[in-house]
Amino acid sequence: MINKTLRNAASKCQRADTAELSMINKTLRNAANAALSFLFPEVCINCGRVLVERDNCGKRTRELQICTSCLCKLPVRVENERWFPCLSEPYEEDPIPDFSVWALFHYEMPVTLLVKRLKFFSEIYCGQLLADLMGREFPKNTPVKWDAVVPVPLSEKRLRKRGYNQAEVLAKGISNHLRIPLCNNVIRKVRHTNQQSRYKEPEERRKNVEGAYAIEESWDITGWNILLVDDILTTGSTLHEAAKVLFENGAATVVGVVCATHRENIES
Ligand SMILES: [Zn+2]
Repeated sequence: MINKTLRNAASKCQRADTAELSMINKTLRNAANAALSFLFPEVCINCGRVLVERDNCGKRTRELQICTSCLCKLPVRVENERWFPCLSEPYEEDPIPDFSVWALFHYEMPVTLLVKRLKFFSEIYCGQLLADLMGREFPKNTPVKWDAVVPVPLSEKRLRKRGYNQAEVLAKGISNHLRIPLCNNVIRKVRHTNQQSRYKEPEERRKNVEGAYAIEESWDITGWNILLVDDILTTGSTLHEAAKVLFENGAATVVGVVCATHRENIES
């Protein structure tokens, strides 16, 4: 009886101690966060202003590291200007003539700069902002049930140099918001290509990426509906070449998803 009473008392003390420790931990964490915010305040990745909730940003925009004013200035396309045929210059013998691409932004400032910072200056958080907005805006009620989000891959050489694939950073936004698995190694780049931006002519761009992609053999994508993600849509050669290998390996539907395009040829 005495033992039981002692055990109960010990258990109560333990619970009290645990609650007290948890409270102390929480207080210390809050104090550490406050000190960090003071020393390294969160700033808008576009204009550099310190982010202050209920002043120049909301909770969600603070998490995205952008102030409300800059968020409103992003060149978002109106809904009926977001769909494009993949190739800017389609040709009659195209093996995948109906392949279309969805783009959220006009390729204008500040999106131009955010994409450059993502690609060339290792500022992945710029891509995470764009990815999150892409994920929020991509149509949720399409008649197709998507099986996978697949980023256009980089070559091994470029991936080693950059350390990450910018298309994968963007693909995560789509995957998270639409709850579709991100399959980042379905397509493999089988040869190194020059930067597409080196070429101006569509034919040169097409030749530069011709035969550059293959499917990783361990994947069976027969019947899959796939969202194929890249950063920018220019002539469409890269997306077209990557989509072609998906279709050749049995994919049922492939739709391209990009952050931005300068193109204005409205499809619908
Ligand atoms: Zn700002």
